[in-house]
Amino acid sequence: MTPQTNPFTLGVASGDPLPDSVVLWTRLAPRPYEPGNGLPGDGAIDVQWELASDESFRHLVQNGTVPAPAADNHTVHLDVRGLEADRFYWYRFRVDGRWISPTGRTRTAPAPTADVDRGRFGLLSCQQYDEGYYTALAHLAGEELDAVFFVGDYIYENAINAQAGARHYTAPLPEFFNHVTLNLTDYRLRYALYKSDPDLQAAHAAHPWYVTWDDHEVGNNYAGDISQDNDPVDVFRARRAAAYRAYWENMPLREAHRPTGPDMRLYRRFQYGRLAQFDILDTRQYRSDQAYGDGWQYPGPESEDPARTLTGAEQERWLLDGFRSSTALWNVVPQQVAFCRHKNTTADRSQLSMDAWDGYPASRDRVLAGVAEAGVANFVVLTGDEHVHYAMDIKEDFDDPDSRTLGVEVVGTSVSSGFDGEEHPDDWTLTLAANPHMKFYDARRGYALVTLERTHVHAEFRTLTGVVTHGAPVSTAACFVSEAGDPGFSAA
Ligand code: FE
Ligand code: CA
Repeated sequence: MTPQTNPFTLGVASGDPLPDSVVLWTRLAPRPYEPGNGLPGDGAIDVQWELASDESFRHLVQNGTVPAPAADNHTVHLDVRGLEADRFYWYRFRVDGRWISPTGRTRTAPAPTADVDRGRFGLLSCQQYDEGYYTALAHLAGEELDAVFFVGDYIYENAINAQAGARHYTAPLPEFFNHVTLNLTDYRLRYALYKSDPDLQAAHAAHPWYVTWDDHEVGNNYAGDISQDNDPVDVFRARRAAAYRAYWENMPLREAHRPTGPDMRLYRRFQYGRLAQFDILDTRQYRSDQAYGDGWQYPGPESEDPARTLTGAEQERWLLDGFRSSTALWNVVPQQVAFCRHKNTTADRSQLSMDAWDGYPASRDRVLAGVAEAGVANFVVLTGDEHVHYAMDIKEDFDDPDSRTLGVEVVGTSVSSGFDGEEHPDDWTLTLAANPHMKFYDARRGYALVTLERTHVHAEFRTLTGVVTHGAPVSTAACFVSEAGDPGFSAA
């Protein structure tokens, strides 16, 4: 079956690079905003693919045909093998020789034994469509990077009106988007809406991505089987199954991560030569319910119950085993919610966010005990969710600024969630005073760049003047470094 109009409306993507393979992704959608996307509801469409060592495809490395099954909403997840390590490749897809996709560029990881000097990575999160344009992603597409980490809130579940909220569209969106996502069709079309954005397509086409989710890929602040509104568990598990299925379909993930019903293994590990190990977490699927009814609350016996977990026991074991077996210089943990303590007053007793690691302190203590026990010298946590930039030192005792620093946390701001934001919001002075381990705070939109070298890690906080109008310039608000073997951020 040949689509009568261009099916490559949602771009291309690559992800989860290994030294010899990478996942190439696309989705056929001649009518991206309609249920079914204008394609038949069964069977598969053959998609031709090409991978080359140059942008003009003169030096073809591999090619073939891969099915885009209707059952997978006509998505392609091609795990190309037999590649050379630490190299750029270019890829594209065709249907029936008539339609050709945009070209994507990707990069394989270095060989596990390679003595890599440097790796440079983007850190993205939180791209609520109707709160701003993806100008940050257009700028990120032009950065020189080895890969990108996207650490959650790729989509949001909220209703989107015909004007697309802050985007003020004059060509109205279909009424279909004006309700909360609940079923498979809702989630599939929500990804289609987001992925129709040219800046998001450019960022995917420019770099391979390692993705993980937070809450909004399903629904706000859910915890395991428990929705924010405490829906019946079977109802919420059906929603989670639909959301996870659409997530897998729309991300450059391997077949091994394909969900079974409401369960999907997303946490996973990558080596970046001898330079780094990436342990990408899922702190949503297995967590205990938020203590004290969620939100900002005073900690107490309920939040401090050692039986509570943010990772689940199995993922925690996997993480600590990974620290133990690691031979990498840097142990990097890309994950969702703020790891360091974050008080909202300077009083000794302060409310904390029950949705972040602060609401699961025993879980955090077990991770830090694992870091210490394994002798991890260079521990770096990469975080999203907060919709602001923070540079923070991970302290042995957050109440004692003179206690040992165990690592550093880079919280990258949102791409668009939260509208324009501002450099110094109302709580800026108080937040820095209440949290002496916080070295930097900026509440504008943008992304972070994290460069790992043998001697130090460098974090660059990129910000935009705004996102509710398109095309703002990007600039660097601040840079921080932490030395290898001597953790702690200082301004660079
Ligand atoms: Fe968010
Ligand atoms: Ca979130």
